[in-house]
Amino acid sequence: MPSAPRRRPHETELHRRGLLFVISSPSGAGKSTIARKLIEVDEQIRLSVSATTRPMRPGEVDGRDYHFVDTAKFKEMVADDDFLEWAHVFDHRYGTPRAPVEAMLHEGRDVLFDIDWQGAQQLYQQAAGDVVRIFILPPSMEELERRLRGRGTDSAEVIDRRMERAVSEIGHWDGYDYVLVNDDVERCFAQVRLILRSERLRRHRQLGLIGFTRKLMRG
Ligand code: 5GP
Repeated sequence: MPSAPRRRPHETELHRRGLLFVISSPSGAGKSTIARKLIEVDEQIRLSVSATTRPMRPGEVDGRDYHFVDTAKFKEMVADDDFLEWAHVFDHRYGTPRAPVEAMLHEGRDVLFDIDWQGAQQLYQQAAGDVVRIFILPPSMEELERRLRGRGTDSAEVIDRRMERAVSEIGHWDGYDYVLVNDDVERCFAQVRLILRSERLRRHRQLGLIGFTRKLMRG
């Protein structure tokens, strides 16, 4: 039987603050694909599932893609302070339920948020030091429109509104820590993973460092 890997001493002493990893983009720029891939390959991060009042699209699953709720329920959740952040996006309300995020952080996980610039801004106001914000741009507006039409899930009218909305979303690019252009999904995904790995290593997230360095210096 293979022996258990030997732990280096610092691995048991250093633990890390969980981070709030926000990915935003105009719809169709590839954010959801990248978020899904990240959840599949990275054991340490969990997806925050938002609540929304928008109708379910074909192929979506309640509780996996969103918690689909009616407006009355959403308003009740707002009144009960159940959301970490919430916003109007298009004609609907979207919000991040607070309790699951707190539970994931408590378990020592990082949390991934697929939310818009308003949500990114609100999370940043509440927990600036723990938030990492990535904005993903399409390579061109033509390509964005092609991708939206290719999805086949929205009417022409909805697509036109999403294109208009994309222009205003893109205007918020400077509210993010990183801005990536998704001209190749694998390359963009690799960049997202690189950012996540590096951000995890930042000094202020290594909670045991003070004690560890003191011990090192004592010899
Ligand atoms: P869709 O309807 O295409 O799933 O999402 C529309 C937009 O709402 C996307 O930009 C998505 O990131 C954003 N969104 C989804 N959930 C939330 C949320 O909980 N809060 C905020 N602020 N935006 C969200």
